[in-house]
Amino acid sequence: MASSMLFARTLPRALAPVPIMPSMRTFSILSVRARAHPVEPEGTTGPLHVSPVHDTLNVHRDHLQQRPRSPAVRPPKMEPDYNVGPSALEKAGHLFLFSEMVRGLWVTLENFFRPPYTIQYPFEKGPLSPRFRGEHALRRYPTGEERCIACKLCEAICPALAITIESEPRADGSRRTTRYDIDMTKCIYCGMCQEACPVDAIVETQTLEFATETREELFYNKEKLLANGDRAEMEIASNIYADHLTR
Ligand code: SF4
Ligand code: SF4
Repeated sequence: MASSMLFARTLPRALAPVPIMPSMRTFSILSVRARAHPVEPEGTTGPLHVSPVHDTLNVHRDHLQQRPRSPAVRPPKMEPDYNVGPSALEKAGHLFLFSEMVRGLWVTLENFFRPPYTIQYPFEKGPLSPRFRGEHALRRYPTGEERCIACKLCEAICPALAITIESEPRADGSRRTTRYDIDMTKCIYCGMCQEACPVDAIVETQTLEFATETREELFYNKEKLLANGDRAEMEIASNIYADHLTR
């Protein structure tokens, strides 16, 4: 009984055809063909997949979709317009007579005899615009009274928060500052304090040489600013007058 069952199991295996193993070359050819002609699964829509083999062989996508390739569009040929610009004779004249080189040498010769544009600063100084924004100053009226009315508009508008003002009313009821500080190390010389002032009290002078050796010397207080204004009042007044038509 046991021998008959063993015979029934092994006989089909023994009679089955022996599979033929493909050689390595056959396998590689089949795999390349399979990648070159991919079989789209049923129900698939859209363009066929472009395999890396097609990209390598430079096969166009339209070929896979069995569609004719669109013809190449060539741009229209542009003919030069000889009616504009210098004529060929003029160009030849410039070319053979070196006229452009002579013009360049003439410009060099002109500048050779001109005075130099450079100046020997600080012994020589160039002109400054009336709108130049340099060191700050507080102005007074001709009577000697301070112009500043402590409205604090300059403090409010200063983008660098460089101005600090404290004020209190005087005995006569007028309001004046008790403290007016500008941190010149913060100032960006934008001129907005000068523009905001309703009485032209804070101004920027044309003084640009106020470098110091210590940082503390650039913390200007009210006395320093008033002294700057007293020293440069004539210059400040003339600059404001020169600019009054455009302000
Ligand atoms: S010039 Fe500009 S940054 Fe300087 S104090 Fe006036 S508003 Fe401030
Ligand atoms: S300097 Fe001019 S803007 Fe500034 S607090 Fe005095 S009056 Fe006002």
